[in-house]
Amino acid sequence: MKVHEYQARQLLADGGVPVPGGKMVQTVEDAEAAAAELIAAGAKLLVVKAQVHAGGRGKAGFVKLVKTADEARQAAEFMLTNRMVSVQTGPEGLDVRRLLIADGVDIAKEYYLAITVDRARNTNTLIASAEGGVEIEKVAKEKPEAIHKMPLHPTRGLEAFQARQVAFKLGFKGKQVGQAASVMMKLANVFLATDASLAEINPLIVTPPTSDHPDGQVLAIDAKFNFDDNALFRHKNIQAMFDPAEENPAELRANEHGLSYVALDGNIGCLVNGAGLAMSTMDIIKLHGGEPANFLDVGGSASEDAVTEAFRIILSDDRVQGVLVNIFGGIMECDKIARAIASAAKEVGFTVPLVVRLEGTNVAAAREILEEAKSELPTMQPATDLADAAKKVCAAVTVPA
Ligand code: GDP
Ligand code: MG
Repeated sequence: MKVHEYQARQLLADGGVPVPGGKMVQTVEDAEAAAAELIAAGAKLLVVKAQVHAGGRGKAGFVKLVKTADEARQAAEFMLTNRMVSVQTGPEGLDVRRLLIADGVDIAKEYYLAITVDRARNTNTLIASAEGGVEIEKVAKEKPEAIHKMPLHPTRGLEAFQARQVAFKLGFKGKQVGQAASVMMKLANVFLATDASLAEINPLIVTPPTSDHPDGQVLAIDAKFNFDDNALFRHKNIQAMFDPAEENPAELRANEHGLSYVALDGNIGCLVNGAGLAMSTMDIIKLHGGEPANFLDVGGSASEDAVTEAFRIILSDDRVQGVLVNIFGGIMECDKIARAIASAAKEVGFTVPLVVRLEGTNVAAAREILEEAKSELPTMQPATDLADAAKKVCAAVTVPA
């Protein structure tokens, strides 16, 4: 699960990381009022930031520095009425429904800081770079030596000496070293305490020296978290941060029915039981020149209703020009799938080609059900095995994706 920046900032602030103050708003009027409030409290600079589950907002024009409540109002109006298209959103962009109005800061330098799981080393790892503010993927590609990694101890987490080592490598000087090391350790603590899979601060910044802060201040001014869904049950506060408006509606609907569904770019809808079989089904579709429209694993214990819902979801996708059902009935009974196909045919109708490959538990009963429903399934073709099924559905989809 992902959360918005303002929620991520809250988690960091709760963990003791210094974060500029701010307020989440959903209307232009509230944006203006929040800005006026921060200005009244002494702010000389504010930042208006679109809250969407995608980055690259700065370059897209959805992070704006303003000095007055009126400027904040204008920025808010722009962001709430235009879709945000960034390198992370795809050309269709995203609707912006929430904004963060925050205290703006002067920046002397930007850094990158994150904790994530290093799967190759089987450990949580701190990733840090003095090349902050830009996309880390770009730094990793063009200047890999600018990225520093430090593994976290499995039980002790990030230790003080490790954090200081990294702070020195990033070029922090004097009292900034302690500030930066402290942020790293607190970030690691929040990462562990929330069962996150990613906790990122980009940029972590240092402010120019002032009379109040002669060494500059180290602050987190953007934050991003991904959480392990399997651990969410023990974090009610994070569950409460879920924003359904940021999710793909089809994925959300599937999720409510206990189905694992991921929307993809192709035009062949897939309905499969078991994640492994779903992966190999997508592979074999691609091998035969097709492109899957989705990954859909109905699992072993889905009810007939859930499977029927799966067909509704697949058939409501305009891009789907053919459907491949690939079931290996172990725990799942083939007749359950067949009944779901028959009811989807009655209810929605298969106007696109449907290729069905069923094997395993209750397959004879399943074939009878499909035979009986034949008149309502004019586009159905049975397949003998996986390769046959993939060939048939790829051939039936006339326009390649
Ligand atoms: P992202 O582009 O979606 O990652 O959004 P960020 O919150 O990281 O903002 C993008 C960039 O805007 C940052 O890298 C900064 O250069 C700039 N920025 C954001 N907040 C402030 C601020 O308070 N003051 C100044 N001077 N620049 C800011
Ligand atoms: Mg950022």
